[in-house]
Amino acid sequence: MPPRASRSAVLRALREALGPGKVVEDEEIVRLYSREPEGLEAPERPWAVVFPEEPRDVSAVARLAYKLEFPIYPQGSTTSLSGSAYPLEGGVVVSMERLRRIRSVSLVDSSVWVEAGVRIDDLNLELARRGYMFPVDPASSAVATVGGAINSGAGGMRGAKYGTMRDWVLGLHAVLVDEEGTTMFLGCRTLKCRQGYDLVRLIVGSEGTLALVPDAYLKITPLPENIVTAVAFYRSLGDLMETVVDIKARGIQPYIMEFMGENSVKLAASYARAPIEAEGSMLLVSVDVNREATERVLGELSGIMGSRALRVYTARSLEEAEEKKLFQVRRGLFPAQVEHARRTLGKDRVLVIIEDIAVPPSRLVEAVELIREASERLGFSVAVGGHVGDGNLHPAIGVDPEDPEMTRRAREWFTEVMRIAIKLGGTVSAEHGIGTLKREGLRMELEANNALKALDIMRAIKRAFDPKGLLNPGKVV
Ligand SMILES: Cc1cc2nc3c(=O)[nH]c(=O)nc-3n(C[C@H](O)[C@H](O)[C@H](O)COP(=O)(O)OP(=O)(O)OC[C@H]3O[C@@H](n4cnc5c(N)ncnc54)[C@H](O)[C@@H]3O)c2cc1C
Repeated sequence: MPPRASRSAVLRALREALGPGKVVEDEEIVRLYSREPEGLEAPERPWAVVFPEEPRDVSAVARLAYKLEFPIYPQGSTTSLSGSAYPLEGGVVVSMERLRRIRSVSLVDSSVWVEAGVRIDDLNLELARRGYMFPVDPASSAVATVGGAINSGAGGMRGAKYGTMRDWVLGLHAVLVDEEGTTMFLGCRTLKCRQGYDLVRLIVGSEGTLALVPDAYLKITPLPENIVTAVAFYRSLGDLMETVVDIKARGIQPYIMEFMGENSVKLAASYARAPIEAEGSMLLVSVDVNREATERVLGELSGIMGSRALRVYTARSLEEAEEKKLFQVRRGLFPAQVEHARRTLGKDRVLVIIEDIAVPPSRLVEAVELIREASERLGFSVAVGGHVGDGNLHPAIGVDPEDPEMTRRAREWFTEVMRIAIKLGGTVSAEHGIGTLKREGLRMELEANNALKALDIMRAIKRAFDPKGLLNPGKVV
């Protein structure tokens, strides 16, 4: 819907309502909030970025958006990778980055009350001082915000053990785009809670399309006493997967279980300059243990992982793993992909398209083979990696966005990878969300599950929360 009020009227009203310093129109700054790290950029610049500093500022923006009918785009750190956070059609970006207070921590209640703009690593620094942690750890946790993680339904490396955001949000404030900018507290401050239909879990993963979330109550858990880690390299993905089966068969429940295919290892190892000999496919496993069990569990783990591997590196603690730089290859993957795309395409501005499918872990080798075949057929060199514990794969390709023929092939590749996931009984998005990039994928998946009517239900839910369709329009449904 085109905005009803003019740009100048909207900005004047926002300034009056929010006070000085919270509405920024500077072109360069607005540009920074108009794109996502994979290379997506707003087709039309938003009018301004607003920076609420109090929950009541969020409510004021929602109320004005409803009254003057302009689109608003909530943002955390804009790292979504699904096209869910960048603005599409003018309007105003609502950045939550100044809502940065950790309001309270209660160990006895196993919860923390935290504002939306708090970064996950900052939250964990604070909790670590008390021997606790918030376990959902997207690889972007240095910048990813609590509000962004809630709304994208994020997961991370510890997903196989701790699940995703939907398992850790107890309650939240939801601000509606309506006449009042209504603020409701949904959910509970307690670990157990029955409140009719579960609106908290509806908002988790709703990608900023249902309500603005200024703060939330999250569940926390004690830090493990110790963590042992082993990294092993395999000649074939088949050997790696057999090893995963052996680990599971022994009843070991990893804290982290990540894998990277051969191409990904090559790219990331040379980018990250890790002091380990990296070749073939990589399996990285961490297990949380009581201190007394350290030697026994590490011995068992390195025995299983070493039986088929070219080589294995181990660490008795997280500190030792960091010293030996055992996580460096995994952490270097995304920047290595961007750097590789820039170098091979000879361009500064590239798109690194990262898929986010999940398949049952038992179908992982098959999935990787089919993805490799499809990539070769469509003329792309693919780097595959992901969270092997929960079957979540992130195959990635580099694309020149100014080359229409390559962009067309990339779109075909993207759709083909989603088709493979559906065919193998998986899903088109495990953690990054639907955004703008996977709307067709969502439709394909629901159709395959004979559940197309679910799309009508989702649209009706969107209308119930946001009747004028002003909140993050063009995303999800
Ligand atoms: C290098 C890299 C690695 C990544 N690794 C992972 C990973 O391991 N696991 C994973 O799940 N994701 C991963 N991601 C994707 C992304 O970083 C996460 O989903 C992250 O949680 C998003 O946080 P953000 O603050 O950047 O949110 P944004 O990208 O700013 O927003 C995400 C969505 O939430 C909405 N939103 C944000 N804040 C609010 C709010 N307060 N109220 C209402 N709506 C809001 C936005 O409109 C958008 O739809 C990765 C991204 C990158 C670039």
